[in-house]
Amino acid sequence: MDGLIMDYQLTLPAILRRAEQLFGHKEIVTRLPDRSFHRYTYADFAVRAKRLALALAELGIGDGDRVGTLCWNHYRHLEAYYGIPLAGGVIHTLNLRLHPSDLTYIANHAGDRALIVDESLLPLYEGIKDGLDLEHAIVISEGGEAPAGMLSYEELIAGVDEADYTELQIDERSAAAMCYTSGTTGQPKGVLYSHRAIALQAFAAAMAGPFGLHEADTTLPVVPMFHANAWCFPFTCTLVGAKQVYPGPHLDPASLLQAFEQERVTVTAGVPTIWLGILALLDADPGAYDLSSLRAMIVGGSAAPRAMIQAFQERHGLNVVHAWGMTEMTPLGTVAMLTSDLLDAPDEVKYEYLSKQGLPVPYVEIRARREDGELVAWDGETMGELEVRGVWVASRYYGDEDTGDRWTADGWFKTGDVVTIDGRGCIEIQDRSKDLVKSGGEWISSVALENALMGHPAVAEAAVIAMPHEKWTERPLAVVVLKPGGSATDTELREYLASGFAKWWLPDEFRFVEEIPKTAVGKFRKTALREQFAPAPGSAEVAS
Ligand code: ADP
Repeated sequence: MDGLIMDYQLTLPAILRRAEQLFGHKEIVTRLPDRSFHRYTYADFAVRAKRLALALAELGIGDGDRVGTLCWNHYRHLEAYYGIPLAGGVIHTLNLRLHPSDLTYIANHAGDRALIVDESLLPLYEGIKDGLDLEHAIVISEGGEAPAGMLSYEELIAGVDEADYTELQIDERSAAAMCYTSGTTGQPKGVLYSHRAIALQAFAAAMAGPFGLHEADTTLPVVPMFHANAWCFPFTCTLVGAKQVYPGPHLDPASLLQAFEQERVTVTAGVPTIWLGILALLDADPGAYDLSSLRAMIVGGSAAPRAMIQAFQERHGLNVVHAWGMTEMTPLGTVAMLTSDLLDAPDEVKYEYLSKQGLPVPYVEIRARREDGELVAWDGETMGELEVRGVWVASRYYGDEDTGDRWTADGWFKTGDVVTIDGRGCIEIQDRSKDLVKSGGEWISSVALENALMGHPAVAEAAVIAMPHEKWTERPLAVVVLKPGGSATDTELREYLASGFAKWWLPDEFRFVEEIPKTAVGKFRKTALREQFAPAPGSAEVAS
């Protein structure tokens, strides 16, 4: 027997209708390239998103058509987040930090018919445009004429009347957005998000437990809108009616801190490298900024070092919320939290849990599998590859027939992340399977060593990679960036680690460098480090 409930479609127009009806007066703030602040309301935003939909429809963009964006985080990008799907299209956010050849590959693989580009990114666009198969190129600028061959975003919007807008009947299962994995471990793969997946994730992120975003929040996503939907902030915040602040291209620690203070930001989100930069600035000049409004700094994308979480809390009274996700998961998977049984635990134990990746959010299920194919016990010790399923987990990659090995026969997604799961269902990422150090048949977690090293007072950043070894197959090598004025020798660092790790886990070698190469979304680029430090074949470094 069917339930007798309306078949209400979970779509982006439903989010926009609510935002318009209830939150038309709320504010959306953007820092423009010239550093001034642009302000308007949700009501203004909704009108312009509809106009964009109308203008795109006039250009022939319709059902399922991909429209790329090459943009920073700002209000017009937010309009595109809604306007493109409102026209029936799919917003494909392109990562402006990728190499031009990757961008060309991704835009063509996705079949982008049109592209919306920030004026400041025109040099990047100029370098790739000949390799693209676009029908329309649209420039976002603060005034002046569009370059030859391009349309002006503002002129397009001005040329239509929102009174002509009628909402399309969109099936919640149809595609609304698209994002390629950033290719940390291989060729970028396209993930195609449905309206339903986005609407449900926005709903889940608003729950207490995950992020608890609500109307009274002021949010500033540092995570780029081209990285996994800016972790759904543009959707969740619009759904709940939070004041939204976008940093534009100004992502340096001082600009961010100034925006947090000025706009009274309550929740912000970004990768650890952003927060490490902010911590250094706060440490250098404690009390320089009034951050009393900030209730949560969400960190994900790479493991958040425990020392960083502890330092923010103890030295600056700031609360770091650690989350794990993947482009393939729209992207939210787990969030660290203190369950009721931990509320009275000693601080040491609390920090231990706050620096794990946490519990799966509602409608995400987890399990992990050992190399021999057996599922791991939830004992907090046995490592295995994490598998997930849920309402917003990709069921396959776009236009890619060869990636079936990423899904199990019973339909779970194999994350490539190696974890332990404890009795509470709390996961701890030990490594990406490609980054694990396999020493003498046992696994060493590079993440655990890195996090411990980054707790040393003289260490700014540390990455641990596997080096080939005749006897042990692989041994860990630590690449370390010291803080300005900091000093530490390899012997000191090895001794520092020795208190927390088995002897065979300790890196054989430490290399001190000026900088660790990063990926387009700010993660350590370990493939580059492995190449940089790879011993020449047959050299003495392939040691025994
Ligand atoms: P890419 O796969 O190209 O790096 P994603 O942004 O989708 O792009 O990265 C997802 C991966 O990032 C996860 O599989 C995991 O390895 C890593 N990751 C994300 N969040 C965390 C976290 N909190 N702790 C450790 N690793 C994380």
